[in-house]
Amino acid sequence: MQRLQNNKTYDYLVVGAGLFGSVIARRALDAGYSVKVIDRRNHIGGNLYCEDIDGVAVHSYGPHIFHTSDKQVWEWVNSVVEFVPFINSPLANFNGKIYNLPFNMNTFCQLWGVTTPEQAKAKIESQREGITDPKNLEEQAISLVGRDIFETLIKGYTEKQWGRECKELSADIIRRLPLRFTYDNNYFNDTYQGIPQGGYNTFIERLLEGADVELECDFFAHRETLENSARKIVYTGEIDRYFDYCFGRLEYRTLRFESERLESENYQGVAVMNFTDRTTPFTRIVEHRHFDKSCKAKHTIITREYPQEWNDKCEPYYPIANARNNTIAEQYRKLASAQQNVIFGGRLAQYRYYDMHHIVKLALQIEL
Ligand code: FAD
Repeated sequence: MQRLQNNKTYDYLVVGAGLFGSVIARRALDAGYSVKVIDRRNHIGGNLYCEDIDGVAVHSYGPHIFHTSDKQVWEWVNSVVEFVPFINSPLANFNGKIYNLPFNMNTFCQLWGVTTPEQAKAKIESQREGITDPKNLEEQAISLVGRDIFETLIKGYTEKQWGRECKELSADIIRRLPLRFTYDNNYFNDTYQGIPQGGYNTFIERLLEGADVELECDFFAHRETLENSARKIVYTGEIDRYFDYCFGRLEYRTLRFESERLESENYQGVAVMNFTDRTTPFTRIVEHRHFDKSCKAKHTIITREYPQEWNDKCEPYYPIANARNNTIAEQYRKLASAQQNVIFGGRLAQYRYYDMHHIVKLALQIEL
């Protein structure tokens, strides 16, 4: 283990108290290093953060369910805090009619009244419209799942997400649409699935135990001082910003969340309800208390999720993996890999979409 050099205050400065930064911080602390963690937000946890609203844990940046088939990752997160099993079984609401997700035998039965996998497969096959060379997202989706599933469960939702008609969107956006020919509403295929006991905030607090944490501190407002304060930096912010946008700005998809408190214990009977018609302006309603079976509150909090055009004042949620952004991101990644003493990690610093289990895996693999 290398010890502090010269006049450095810390071994590690972690920029970003999200999942990637927090896992690295834990590993560094456990190895005996000194660690400072900063975040520009006023809370730890990054996008996993939950706000407690009178006993209901509200997933402030969208609902988060941890899922993985990687035993090592599952055991590691459970060594921090036990994860309580939670099976995500969202529903789709199309003009008031309810369908199960992901597309499975329950969905096919609700759509067409079919009851066997053979009948469902025949129905889908008959609706693929013989498309072999899809020119846009609409044709791609129809070639994969047929017209009815496209019209009922994909079209409106996707058009709201992207703010454009499916005919105008690239076929590349959807590469595959899994169809399940069993009566199984479990959204994820993974072996392990759950939510930390006591919530994500407890999980992140345990990861950061022993670190010096400073909130509402933007790395770029104090760059020189912060860079000089530590032997190594772990950077989890936007990669283009780190390099002063020298190759241009990367683009993101963003979301707007509108929460409402209702004096009822159960508003929609499920944690996540997608609205797949075009006219409902939001894409889904999340009812947070359903993520936590121990919730005793007498009220409920629902959040409507609205897709929104991104600009640099908005939260960057999802990278947009088109040719332009991929080329620019690759140029930044090359610069990043040549930086001495800086580890670039997480969704923003890699400009890649990662689920939480990917983040944990990557952070466990980093050589300290
Ligand atoms: P972040 O959580 O974004 O952390 C980065 C942190 O760095 C932030 O707190 C930010 O404030 C801080 N930061 C950035 N720049 C600076 C700076 N200049 N100075 C100081 N601080 C800075 N994954 C799942 O596995 N299951 C799910 O159900 C799931 N649902 C999701 C739902 C939504 C709506 C979204 C958007 C994502 C979802 N994810 C889910 C993905 C999950 O959120 C990510 O895998 C995870 O949050 C990535 O962690 P991170 O540390 O890379 O990034």
